[in-house]
Parts: sequence; structure tokens; C-alpha cells
Amino acid sequence: MGTQALLDAVAATVRACQRCPLAERRHLAVPGEGNPFSDVLLVGEGPGAREDATGRPFVGPAGQLLDELLASIGWAREDVYITNVVKCRPPGNRDPEPDEMATCGVHLERQEAILDPAVIVTLGRFSLGRYLPGARISGIHGKVRRVAGRSIFPMYHPAAALHQAALRETLFRDFRGLPAALLEARSALEQERAALAATIEVGTVADATAPPSDHQQLTLF
Ligand code: URA
Repeated sequence: MGTQALLDAVAATVRACQRCPLAERRHLAVPGEGNPFSDVLLVGEGPGAREDATGRPFVGPAGQLLDELLASIGWAREDVYITNVVKCRPPGNRDPEPDEMATCGVHLERQEAILDPAVIVTLGRFSLGRYLPGARISGIHGKVRRVAGRSIFPMYHPAAALHQAALRETLFRDFRGLPAALLEARSALEQERAALAATIEVGTVADATAPPSDHQQLTLF
């Protein structure tokens, strides 16, 4: 099965999911969307009203700002993959509960495994908590952390800047660091692969050092 088919299979599972109470009141589940061959995964919190109505992530006001942020570094939604920690709208846009995030996490785990991103951009504190439990967004936004072979790039949630104008500039400034973070992440992966290759006998080194087959190279600047 190819990458897109695997992601489609996860999306079908999400749309049929009844594993937590959020399923009862959703209109549409929001599995995620984007470039299946990107090595950048953006993870938000959960669908809002517009996302619940359309089944697509980040299509409301926060999504418009996200589009602007991507455009500010020459990227578009089609260059990355976008999803959320929970795939169904928490009623009244309340915070997702820990058990809802834990239950829904199986879908995100599969998406991570399929996409195998070099960089995961966390949007907001719930997404940050998944990858860096206990970390405070105010202290580490815009700074890369290496966790289990991936680079985590913490960002404030775009919706926060809609309520607090001062965060808008912070978001744009942090986003400007993303292309460099991606280059560093790719280089870290290459080094890890080279180190692995060095431990493997000569006949198999060529295979072990081959770059990932299907990731596209984003235009970085
Ligand atoms: N906020 C999120 O965290 N995710 C969305 O998809 C939309 C708004």
C-alpha cells in the first residue's frame, strides 16, 4: 500500500471512530490533510466549528493565520501535512480531556508512523504536551528539541494570536526559524543513518545510507 492509501485508511478509521464521547456530538471528524510525502507535520489541538462543518483542519480564522504563516516562509498547505491531537470537535471548543487525547492518540500515532516526518511543529500547549510532557510553551516556543529521532518545533497556537495581538509577531518570528530547523533535522537524520551504516557490514551500507525514498524536498528559502 502506498503512503496516500495508508493515510486514506487512517482517515476512514477516524471518520468511523466511536472510541470516545467526542464522536457523539461531532458533525464531521477531521482526520487531517496535506502532502503525504512531506517531512513536516503540523499538529494542532482539535477541530473548531468550521472544521467540524467541513471535515478539514485549520479552515477557520486560526487556519487563515496558519496559511499566512506558511506563506511568510514561501510554503503552502500543500507542502506540509496538517492534523490535530483530537480529530473531533470538543463541544463549545472546550479543551480536550486527557482521556480523549489518549484515546485519539492511536490515530495520530499511525499518521506519524506513515508520514515519518523529520520535523513535527506543535501548535499550542496540548500538542506540545504530547511530545514534550511538562514543557511550558512560553519557555521553548521557536526552539527545536530532538525527541526519539524527530525534531519537535514548538509554536504558540495561531488562535492565541487572534486573542493576543502581541503573539502575532512572535508567531511570525518563530516560523521564520522553521526552514533552518528542517535543514538541521534532515542533517541529524543523515548523521544517524551514517552512524547506523557504520555498524552494518560493508555489503549493506549502500542500502542503509540511501535517503528516504518518497519524501519531497521543500523549497527552503
Ligand atoms: N484549531 C486547531 O487546533 N485545529 C484546527 O483544525 C482548527 C483550529
